[in-house]
Amino acid sequence: MSIARYFILRLVFLALLLSFPGDARAGKPQRFEFESLQMGVSVRLVLYTEDAETANKAAQAAFNRFAELNAIMSDYDSDSELSRLSAASGETEGPIPVSPDLFAILDASKRYSVLSDGAFDVTVGPLVRLWRRARRQRELPKDQLVRQARRRVGNDLWELDREKQTVRLKQQGMRFDLGGIAKGYGIDQAFEAIRKHGITVQLVDAGGDMRLGDAPPDGWKIEMNDGMTLAPENIALATSGDRFRFVEIGGVRYSHIIDPKTGLGLTHSSTVYVTALTATEADALASALSVMAPEAGIQLADSLENVAAKIVLGDGKRTFQSKNWQE
Ligand code: AMP
Ligand code: MG
Repeated sequence: MSIARYFILRLVFLALLLSFPGDARAGKPQRFEFESLQMGVSVRLVLYTEDAETANKAAQAAFNRFAELNAIMSDYDSDSELSRLSAASGETEGPIPVSPDLFAILDASKRYSVLSDGAFDVTVGPLVRLWRRARRQRELPKDQLVRQARRRVGNDLWELDREKQTVRLKQQGMRFDLGGIAKGYGIDQAFEAIRKHGITVQLVDAGGDMRLGDAPPDGWKIEMNDGMTLAPENIALATSGDRFRFVEIGGVRYSHIIDPKTGLGLTHSSTVYVTALTATEADALASALSVMAPEAGIQLADSLENVAAKIVLGDGKRTFQSKNWQE
């Protein structure tokens, strides 16, 4: 996962939390904040609990969980479980057992791939590689290379067996890229780790994508880049867009998000905001809706329970909202 991506996303959602002075009196929860670099992004935790020891333990557990997941899912580390799975695509067509975390995130990825009719596709790795190089060299990838890469990309090229917790890869040279969903999954797992320490008032913010628990006494204040302030409780937020990460070649702006149907970086620019009950869902849907036509994306959001979405097209002049966005 790219470091730049996370720092940039961090700018988009800026969490403005009212400072809540710690109250040392017994029985009153105090506010604790922690920050650590995880998955290449600055992760911030805000926890309300009565004692510092519980807060420290919970924060440590949350950061450990992020580190554990990064070791499994990094596509930069050739030794990660994900990289080894991708490498196996050339060697075997038989079922490959994977860890519970990798299975869970691949299972979720499959779900959003199906829901988005292939717009969200975690097998885009070969295309992402081409586009990373294109960005460095400021040159479009050759047609032939895009064609070759596209043969190794597709939701129909891999299968999961839920009972056996295995993955089957049907094509050589496949490459998974969980960049569109791993951060959301990490946030949810950190959130759970904190909850296990009995903390219900908490916020996990990873580069602007976040999950909020019960609200503190003053509520959660979230300032978004379009100025809107939400005060949600028990919700997750994610954003996706090409406002900062893109490459311009021959006067055309290509996003780091790839349309699996064309094999190219998106050329329509948009910023997508999604709220859902989990950060995994919000993260995956924000990426999916970036690729889909806005009308279809909003229709998908409307069809899902507890999901709201807003899409702002590049020039900011056209905005699409799901029915429940205002709520
Ligand atoms: P996000 O910022 O969450 O939208 O994720 C963008 C990242 O997801 C990219 O940097 C790629 O690693 C990966 N990606 C690119 N295109 C797709 C796609 N069509 N489906 C799923 N993941 C993608
Ligand atoms: Mg995403």
